[in-house]
Amino acid sequence: MDFFSHALWAFFVARSAKVKDWKQFILFSVVPDVAFALPSVLVGLFWAISDRLVPWEAASFAANFWWVSVFYHVAHSLLTLAAFVLVARIAFGAFPWAAAGGWFLHLAMDLFTHKDSMTVPMPLYPFGPEVAGFVHWSEPWFLVVDWLLLAAVYAVLIFGPGFFSRARRAS
Ligand SMILES: [Zn+2]
Repeated sequence: MDFFSHALWAFFVARSAKVKDWKQFILFSVVPDVAFALPSVLVGLFWAISDRLVPWEAASFAANFWWVSVFYHVAHSLLTLAAFVLVARIAFGAFPWAAAGGWFLHLAMDLFTHKDSMTVPMPLYPFGPEVAGFVHWSEPWFLVVDWLLLAAVYAVLIFGPGFFSRARRAS
């Protein structure tokens, strides 16, 4: 899904579930995309400079940018998440529940919204299997539904039942 949907849904979930470390939860709900996009861009720039890209007429997008899907899959694998939890447990002596929760929410949201993309989710990468999904998140109708739902959910969050009693208390 798109970056801002990830962050906004994460805030809503953290708020609804009363996650204590909600900032960590939200931060890690976008980590998988940052973790694959940054190295993808860097490798792309480096290879463009070193002339390793295939001429555009000859290459499909996938042939020119195959490493993007490798980075995507590594950042979107439950095994990477498990390794992160393990390393954090050893390093900090506690399970990073909020961070892992945000990360997991991201994976769950991407799982069914990457249909026909070069990054079809493989939740147990590198061991497969691919999950075809129902829709690609960039489909216009899906973006409209997603953002309408976000608007509705945030309207309730901001103006919902507790809003007027909060306002009265504040005045
Ligand atoms: Zn993602």
